[in-house]
Amino acid sequence: MDKYEVLHKQFGYTSFRPGQEEAIDAILTGQDVIAIMPTGAGKSLCYQIPALLLPGITLVISPLISLMKDQVKALNESGCPAVFLNSSLSSEEYQWAMDEILCERAKLIYVAPERLFKHDISLLASSGHISLVVVDEAHCVSQWGHDFRTSYLDISRFVRSMKKRPILAAFTATATMQVRRDIEELLSLKKALRVHTGFDRPNLRFEVLKTGKAYGVDKKKALLHYLSSREDESGIIYCATRKAVEETYALLQNRGYKATRYHAGLDDAERRSNQDDFLYDRSLIMVATNAFGMGIDKSNVSYVIHFNMPKNIESYYQEAGRAGRDGSPADCILLYSGQDVQINKFLITRSNDDAFNPERESHNLELLKEMTFYATSSRCLRHRLLAYFGEESPASCNNCSNCLGHRTITQGPVPSPISVPSQPRPREQEPAAPVDEALFVKLKGLRKEIAQNERMPAYIIFSDASLKDMCRKKPLSPAQFSMVSGVGQVKREKYGQTFTALIKEHLAQTRALL
Ligand code: ADP
Ligand code: MG
Repeated sequence: MDKYEVLHKQFGYTSFRPGQEEAIDAILTGQDVIAIMPTGAGKSLCYQIPALLLPGITLVISPLISLMKDQVKALNESGCPAVFLNSSLSSEEYQWAMDEILCERAKLIYVAPERLFKHDISLLASSGHISLVVVDEAHCVSQWGHDFRTSYLDISRFVRSMKKRPILAAFTATATMQVRRDIEELLSLKKALRVHTGFDRPNLRFEVLKTGKAYGVDKKKALLHYLSSREDESGIIYCATRKAVEETYALLQNRGYKATRYHAGLDDAERRSNQDDFLYDRSLIMVATNAFGMGIDKSNVSYVIHFNMPKNIESYYQEAGRAGRDGSPADCILLYSGQDVQINKFLITRSNDDAFNPERESHNLELLKEMTFYATSSRCLRHRLLAYFGEESPASCNNCSNCLGHRTITQGPVPSPISVPSQPRPREQEPAAPVDEALFVKLKGLRKEIAQNERMPAYIIFSDASLKDMCRKKPLSPAQFSMVSGVGQVKREKYGQTFTALIKEHLAQTRALL
């Protein structure tokens, strides 16, 4: 097999996305890689494909134990032999996973960095069977990153302790130079290929709504108005504080929305079960502080609303980027108020109490200023975001509230900005055929049923993007079914029959109506 065959047969995709092929080729020829690609760009395939092609085992170091199960399930669904080792496994499950490893069936092993020096992994490290070590969310190694984890600093020592130095590949969506340098240094990457795709996510539509008395707009009303048009869709609402999470959560509960919540004030068990409710679509809306979201690869999140402005663009882009991972159109909406600026200022200056660091404080205030500029700008929002990351882009994207001249959250026209020279026309319709909505709803229903039976998150069975592609292609045979994006051999065999039967039935019904 070569990388294209794996891409088609295993994962059901027709072509690579930007950056994927470079990263894969480098790893396959034994070169270290550091890949900086935005959320949803498809970093996982960059190491999963080499893992299947290289001899021996790939060790994936991933920060979040609570997500490993789903990551591994998703791989297993595509027919990839992967296991994970962590403290959540029962002794039978652990034994089974170890058997898979010892019999050399498993090609990928997911572990948290804290586990590297445990007996089982040490044994593996000294066996010389590990060809590739992947560091996912590699920014966790840097104190400049937003999710520093001390145990990430052990990775380099672990790699040195191995019998044979493996290929090292590090992945992150964090863009700053400091973090990049830290990753290369602290993980001791050797002559690593730097893969850096653009940061643009064309399917995301950016929107800012200025709220507060001065603008005559109430955040809660705007939020409820927006949600009323998004009833069957899944989304995340980020709030700045636990208190704001609780309030917003209560508001939505009272209105009968299937919402859940996540913040550091809840105990572990509740956090985990709320997270699962969201991932398994039992709750469609997640109201959370920024404690929620790293590593979440739920692909059908169709909006991310910031109820409060975050303290810098880096965090904003990372959080907003959790929408539309499968490439479907999605909304990223920021509800701005002057008060948010004050709260952030307070948090930045207060966080210096124990170890006052004037340099860091002024740095953070500078970042807050940039964020505020974004929120109050009348220019293209995408352009501003990309410029912040040092990337050139057209002056207008035709897919943000400033370029389009209207917002979905209030449905109303935007007061005409003063500084935009000419109002660009809305973006042309995508060339792809429009989706048959009725069929889409039916396919979603079928997916949900299967997900419940198999106790799996629905997005792992098929992403929304795959269901939409089914609506366009309307496959009636297994051969046609395998042409759908995201349908590999295993999924074709497992689901082809049921899905094509439903499509046939739908076509018969709609024809009968004509
Ligand atoms: P990241 O880790 O970079 O945030 P993921 O690896 O989770 O992103 O991938 C995001 C989504 O994109 C997943 O649903 C994945 O299946 C899909 N994807 C990845 N590569 C491709 C590709 N070449 N073609 C189509 N879809 C892809
Ligand atoms: Mg990822």
